[in-house]
Amino acid sequence: MKHYPQACLALTLCTLLACDSTVPVAPPPETSTPDRPNFIHIFVDDLGYGDLSCFGATDIATPHIDRLAAEGIKFTEFYSASAVCSPSRAALLTGRYPVRMGINEVFFPESFTGMPESEITIAEVLKPLGYATGMVGKWHLGHMERYLPLNQGFDNYYGMPYSNDMESAVYLSGNAVDSFTVNQRYMTQTYTRHATDFIRAHAGEPFFLYLAHNMPHVPLYASPDFVGSSERGLYGDVVQELDWSVGQVLQTLDSLGIAENTLVIFSSDNGPWLVMEDHGGSAGALREGKQYTFEGGMRVPTVARWPARIPGGQVYDELATQMDWMPTFAALAGAELPADRPIDGRDLTAVLEGTGERADQGLLYIFANELRAYRHGDYKVKLPYRGFAGSPGMKAVAAHDTLLFNLKDDPGEQNNLLTSESERARALLEEMHREYDGLLPLPEQLVIRSPADRSHYDHVREYLARRDGGNSD
Ligand code: MG
Repeated sequence: MKHYPQACLALTLCTLLACDSTVPVAPPPETSTPDRPNFIHIFVDDLGYGDLSCFGATDIATPHIDRLAAEGIKFTEFYSASAVCSPSRAALLTGRYPVRMGINEVFFPESFTGMPESEITIAEVLKPLGYATGMVGKWHLGHMERYLPLNQGFDNYYGMPYSNDMESAVYLSGNAVDSFTVNQRYMTQTYTRHATDFIRAHAGEPFFLYLAHNMPHVPLYASPDFVGSSERGLYGDVVQELDWSVGQVLQTLDSLGIAENTLVIFSSDNGPWLVMEDHGGSAGALREGKQYTFEGGMRVPTVARWPARIPGGQVYDELATQMDWMPTFAALAGAELPADRPIDGRDLTAVLEGTGERADQGLLYIFANELRAYRHGDYKVKLPYRGFAGSPGMKAVAAHDTLLFNLKDDPGEQNNLLTSESERARALLEEMHREYDGLLPLPEQLVIRSPADRSHYDHVREYLARRDGGNSD
């Protein structure tokens, strides 16, 4: 982009000034404060619970993400609101269960729908307080102009409107196509450059940056610098490049003197796509992955750092969700939450500061418009499942009856307690249905994939059969 040379020059000058100065570099005036922090949410795609070294991976090195955890807080029981991309992203940005918006599946390039404009995003909540709002990366909430980030509270957008395996693998700049040819090998670098440019451009005011990498969703690509760098093949190389990207963001904050008042979050949109074998990630000790409501599909590795307010070295071992960021950011910035609609997330301020717990609340696991499971406290109940024989895009999973697990003792969901704790299961099922009924009435499914009319081909086939039949006589 044309402003890179200027940005690079600015950084060089900043670096030189910092090196030459004998006094600490003061943050610029009007910058963020503990009452108006910057927010950076780094969201990666299909990263599994077992794919970061701070979450137990021994064959992928993620020192920068590990540093966020060590200097901040690590969430070991953090959930996405869905086991697939679009609903997960809608929930993060609005703090609401995706079924409330009719978003139960993923949008495709042939979708002419998107997250309704009437939904209120984190960006829209922060903007009236003077926040600069930027998004870089994968949107996946509709590609028509009315659904794009600029119409949902973001001042800037650069990225791909869909998944990198879909036919719309283009880069948009704002609402317009910037490039029809995307070299995915350099995608993580490209996003990193745009993200750090945004930070530099807005260092003097509070900002919200949503950096949503397309990687490590298939097809996998790493730049030549990272190919062969890990002990987990190309998948590990890609994750290590994402970790490098986190390092670039942190370094940029440091160089600008704004790291202290910047809350940086790193998380994944859903679990690993296990059917992709060595090109999919690992859920670690958790059962199953993306597309399923076992823990591996929705429990995602999550860390957060904010030196001014989050004591370092914390581990939070209780339930929290991606929907919590909306009310949390609003509380921290002093913003008003929308009062005309339910917000399902809960404020995590006390959790971040190490002074309290998240509000006692369960989590509904919903997939493709079906209620599948519910967790409250240590226990999870899972409704009977008819099983799936498998397909090129989806792993086979066996049918099962109602399941009850104690997730503290059994995070891998192996030991069904339904018989031994049937009364607990009954009570949890009742609570689940009560919670779900509280969401009703739900809007119609918004992701519309109507079959095309192919009758003209039938007509031609019939015509040819008639003609050929006539010739043979
Ligand atoms: Mg995903």
